[in-house]
Amino acid sequence: MQRAGHLILKGIIFTVLTALTQIGGIAYAVASLAWSAQRRRHIPTALTRFLVPATAITLYAVMTAFVAPPLAAHWGRQRLPCTQGETLVPATRLTCWLNRGYVSSETLTLLSDLGHDLSRRFPGSRLGVLEGGFPFIDGFPLVPHLSHRDGRKVDLSFFYLDENGNPRPDGSPSTLGYFVYVQPTATDTQPCRNRFTPLRWDFAWLQTDAPNWPMDAQRTQWMVHWLKNRPEVVRLFLEPHLAERLGENGGKLRFQGCQAARHDDHLHVQTR
Ligand SMILES: [Zn+2]
Repeated sequence: MQRAGHLILKGIIFTVLTALTQIGGIAYAVASLAWSAQRRRHIPTALTRFLVPATAITLYAVMTAFVAPPLAAHWGRQRLPCTQGETLVPATRLTCWLNRGYVSSETLTLLSDLGHDLSRRFPGSRLGVLEGGFPFIDGFPLVPHLSHRDGRKVDLSFFYLDENGNPRPDGSPSTLGYFVYVQPTATDTQPCRNRFTPLRWDFAWLQTDAPNWPMDAQRTQWMVHWLKNRPEVVRLFLEPHLAERLGENGGKLRFQGCQAARHDDHLHVQTR
C-alpha cells in the first residue's frame, strides 16, 4: 500500500514537472531511477532524502543550459534570448529557467527585426519577450496557453512608463511576466463582462502588489502596427479595449474570445 502511494506521488511529480518544463519530468525520472531503493541501501536515510531532488535539479540545470538549446536547434527551434541583449530582453528569467522560450527560426528572425527597428525608432527601448513554446515535439502543449505548441506563437511584453510618466526601456510590472493587467475603464468594450469564463483569470490579489506603470500607448501601438504589416505574421491577440485605445482594431489583430486567458497583459503573436 505504501509502495502504491509512493508510485502515485512520483507520477504526480513527473506530470507536474513535465507540464511546467517539458524536460523536468525526465530529469526527475532519471534521478529517481539512479537512487532507487536497491542502490541506496547502504546510504544513511537522512542523506537519501536529498539525493533524488539534488540529482534531479543538477541534471535539469545541465539539460536546460547545455543540452536542450543545441538539440532543439537541430530540430528547428531556437531559444529566445536569456540575457539582456541590445534589442531583445527576456521579460522574466522564468521563461528560460522553465524552458518555455523556444520558437521557430523564422519567428526569432521576425523578433530580431522588430527589436532592431524598435531601437532605431525609439533609442534605448528593447523588446521584452515572454513565452514561446517548449524546445521539443510539435503539438506538445505549453500549459496554460491553448495554442503555443509549434514554435510559431510567442508572447510579447507591452511597453510601459514609469511613475513619473517617462518611458521605461523595457521590463514588465509582473515578476511572472504575465497577469498584471492594463485595466479597462468603465466605458471600454468588455465582451466578457458578466459571463462565465473559467479560463479567463483576473488575479485581483496580484494587481495590488504590482508597480503602477501605465502602458506606453505610443510604443505599444508602434509595435502592433509593425507586426500587422509583416507578411509572416498571421494573427495577433489583444483585448478589445486596448485594440481600440491603440487605434489598431481589426485585420490581423483579433480578440481571442472569452474562453482563453486575458490579453491586456501581453500581445500574442502567431507567425506562419
Ligand atoms: Zn500567446
